This record gives sequence, structure tokens and C-alpha cells, in this order.
Amino acid sequence: MICNDKDILHVMIEEARTYTQGGEVAKYIPALAEADPSVLSLAIYDGGGPCAAVGNTDETFTLQSISKVLSLALALMDRGEDEVFSRVGMEPTGDPFNSIIKLETNRPNKPLNPMINAGALAVTSMISGSSTEEKLGRLLTFIHELTGNPEIRYDEHVAKSELRTADLNRSLAYFMRQHNVFEDEVEDLLDLYTKQCAIEVSCEDLAKIGYVIANEGKHVQSKRQIIPLHIARILKTFMVTCGMYNASGEFAIRVGIPAKSGVSGGIMASIPHGIGIGIYGPALDDKGNSVAGMKLLEALSHRYDLS
Ligand code: GLU
Repeated sequence: MICNDKDILHVMIEEARTYTQGGEVAKYIPALAEADPSVLSLAIYDGGGPCAAVGNTDETFTLQSISKVLSLALALMDRGEDEVFSRVGMEPTGDPFNSIIKLETNRPNKPLNPMINAGALAVTSMISGSSTEEKLGRLLTFIHELTGNPEIRYDEHVAKSELRTADLNRSLAYFMRQHNVFEDEVEDLLDLYTKQCAIEVSCEDLAKIGYVIANEGKHVQSKRQIIPLHIARILKTFMVTCGMYNASGEFAIRVGIPAKSGVSGGIMASIPHGIGIGIYGPALDDKGNSVAGMKLLEALSHRYDLS
């Protein structure tokens, strides 16, 4: 079992760490530029015992785009597929995650999918609640359930840093509001979205969330169906088709594991009917994926035949 192979995992993470030199931390959100690019950590959860964790396992980081999978789950549970997919599409894109171009050329003017920023903003607008606090509180409660960790909060420093510099996301949101994708006030939506992206987790937390998604939405200990089966399947499918930005196609071929990355350097992966994986490595490639994290997942996939 992969979780018992700690010695091998130690070797694999140190091999992958050499790739951190080929990447750079995200700078467009100033607080993310404070990360140490040489950090790399990995946690694997198989539901059978504690997580197997190696590398810089004490490091915590913000979810960033990984939160898009969780807000989508919540919006689908709140509103149902018909409403969600009337406002956001299901198609992958070769454009960068923050691109605006398809919003204008796509007819109707709805975002292509929930994993790009435009789509994620539209999805966040569909989380039920009467205030930002209530909506964020519901998302956090959901994450507490998924991880079994009630301590998870958002990082105010990162959220404020992003809110100050989020003019591209602001423009996406104004464009969509004009085209009736949602009716929320743009600043309220950005406040919620940046806090959602700034939710702070460890690799272990990510591995546990990945595990629940991998195992059709069921929590191993409580046996509760935390995410309905059909929604867990939708999440995995989006992770395969759109989870690794505009490198998703190549990643599907080379690695073949449903995964979602974020510009903080986190990657959450879900091996269907199997294990959950959490990785943190803030040095990114030019598409926004953790450069060493991708190498590590590729090596794991080959060694353990996970594709
Ligand atoms: N908060 C980030 C943004 O909206 C998330 C992007 C990402 O991780 O891909 O730009």
C-alpha cells in the first residue's frame, strides 16, 4: 500500500524537489510572493489510518483555485445542476485561467467552465446565504466536515492582498453582471471570492478532501454521504478536463489523475475509488501549476500505476 511506503515517498519528494528551481512563486497576489519556493510537501490518505505525510509537512497555504471545486460542490447542492449550468458552461479551454476573451465571444455570454476565474465567480454567486459571512461560513463548515478539521479558517492577509489587486477578476465580474450571469454587487462577490480563495489548509487537509471526492462523496469514518454521488462524479470530471489550467490535456495523458491546482502551489488529487493526495510546492510553471508538484504526481502515477 502506498501509505506504508514512507521511505520511498521520502526519496520521491526529494527527487521532485530539485524541480522547484525551475519555477517561480505567484507574484500577482502580493502576499503569495512571500512563499519559499523550495518548499515541497505531500500527504496521501487512504482512509485506513493517519495520512502518510512527507516533506515540509508543517507548511499551510491557501486553497486559491482548489476552492473552485468546493464552491462548485456547494452551489450544485444548493441550486441543482440545471440552474448552475444555465449560468456556467462545461467546456474546457486552452486559454489562461483569468482570460476574458471567451466571455465576449462565447454565446450566450456565460463563462466556459467553473474552473476558470470567470466561471468560479459565477459559481460563488450561487452559494446560498443572506450575507457574505453566512455564505463563507457555510463553505467553511463544509470544509470542516470534509477534512474533520474544525480549525480551518481563511487567511485575512492573503484575502486582503488579493482584494486590493483583483482588478482583472473585477472586470470579469462586471462583464458577467452586465450580461445577467448574476445580480450580486461586484464588490460583495469579490470579497466572498477572495476569502474563499484564501482558506488556509495543510496537505493533510487537502488529501482528506481529495479522498472524499475520490470515494464518491462518502466520508470513510462517519460513512456519511457528504457530497451526493452524482456531484462527486461531476467534480472529478471537471478536475480531469479543466483542473490543471490550460495544461489539463497534457496532464491527463502524462499523469491521468483527476486533480485541481491553485496558484498558491497546492494540488489536490483524487484517485477514483482510491486515495486522496495533497501537495504543496509554491514554485509554479508558466501555466500556474506547481512545477515540482506536477513532477511528483507524474512519478507517483507511474510507480503505483494510478492513471
Ligand atoms: N485567487 C486566485 C485568482 O482569482 C485564484 C487563481 C488560481 O489559483 O488559479 O486569481
